[in-house]
Amino acid sequence: MSSSPDWFTEGAPHVWRPYCQMKTAPAPLAVARTEGARIVLEDGRELVDGIASWWTACHGYNHPHIRQAVTEQLATAPHVMFGGLAHAPAYRLAARLARLLPGDLDHIFFAESGSVAVEIAMKMALQFWINRGVAGRTRFVSFLGGYHGDTLATMTICDPEEGMHGLFAGVMPAQHVVALPRDAESEAALDRLLADKGHEIAGLIVEPRVQGAGGMLLHDDEVLRTLRRVADRRHQLLIFDEIFTGFGRTGDLFACEGSGVVPDIVTLSKALTGGTLPLSAAVASRKVFEAFWSDDAGAALMHGPTYMANPLACAAANASLDLFEAGAWRADVARINAALAEGLAPCRDAPGVVDVRTLGAIGVVEFDAPVAVGALCEQFAELGCWIRPMGKVVYLTPPFVTSDEDLARLTGAIRTALTR
Ligand SMILES: *Cc1c(COP(=O)(O)O)cnc(C)c1O
Repeated sequence: MSSSPDWFTEGAPHVWRPYCQMKTAPAPLAVARTEGARIVLEDGRELVDGIASWWTACHGYNHPHIRQAVTEQLATAPHVMFGGLAHAPAYRLAARLARLLPGDLDHIFFAESGSVAVEIAMKMALQFWINRGVAGRTRFVSFLGGYHGDTLATMTICDPEEGMHGLFAGVMPAQHVVALPRDAESEAALDRLLADKGHEIAGLIVEPRVQGAGGMLLHDDEVLRTLRRVADRRHQLLIFDEIFTGFGRTGDLFACEGSGVVPDIVTLSKALTGGTLPLSAAVASRKVFEAFWSDDAGAALMHGPTYMANPLACAAANASLDLFEAGAWRADVARINAALAEGLAPCRDAPGVVDVRTLGAIGVVEFDAPVAVGALCEQFAELGCWIRPMGKVVYLTPPFVTSDEDLARLTGAIRTALTR
């Protein structure tokens, strides 16, 4: 950047940035404003956002319908506590989510971030068994390639090799992190684990269809059907972490709805508010909820994040759901899929590329080794794009409103960077 704005120069020594060695990482790009699929930098450059700000901004930035809903709510009641008080944005949102989610996933517990929603889902599963008088179910089964958050409990169910949390091995009790049941052999291994250790396991947790932060790894719905079958056979709870896959990203509104596999608990966040405000939810099926429904105060779920169900965030989420209900997203996701498949196909022949794949509005180029994230980000910015690779993958998860022209710019930037 030629001349940094004052706010950047003054704040930079004091802001601790995410996921980077601050001493050696390139400086972050100073953002002036956002609009649609674009991020406008302080130096005047306009970048097409290829990753929708960590998969949140599904309708693009500054969507007028969401802005209007948040503005109206801001004038009415920006925030009230949720203990003992109720408000329309949260109650409307809960009813709508219950209607949209499949099966009897009807009981919505709100929180403010994805990791916390996963923690709550884990706590629900643990207490489900306690409330039913079953002792000793303190562990979880999760899957290699998975990512569920950065807080202490969620770190334990992430892929241990994936790198981000390796330092903390031993801090928390180990979980069973195993291979996804993709074939008869891995299904038998999972079934054996549950037969042997099921008495100490509170639930299985998986990112359905796509393991996102672990490398955009795809699996068939058959894997989800297998998980449901094995969990039922061994009397286990099945949790879907749809924080990435929820809200249209894979081509269905939710992976659980599209796959026809209904979990016992599902977590949502990321695109829940259309990328406008932080909000998350852990949604329980009737069976799970009923284990807490009792005359015994001790059976209650003792949880309540201060900002849970924040009215501004719920208003944004309701407005986002209006846009989903309007329905244009389905055609957009199909259009984006075609553009990503065509635009990224030539990358197959580039050196170091081991796979190119797409699902819904997700396009992935996978390499045989981790890529130089900082250097690539700078190259992409020079090419007018905001694309931030992760481990071995360069991927695109653009807003659904991204134009064909902007999609061509994104895939073109990846093709160009690969030939350099
Ligand atoms: C991003 C993500 C999380 C964590 O959400 P945060 O809001 O970053 O805490 C958990 N699970 C999945 C699948 C995610 O993609």
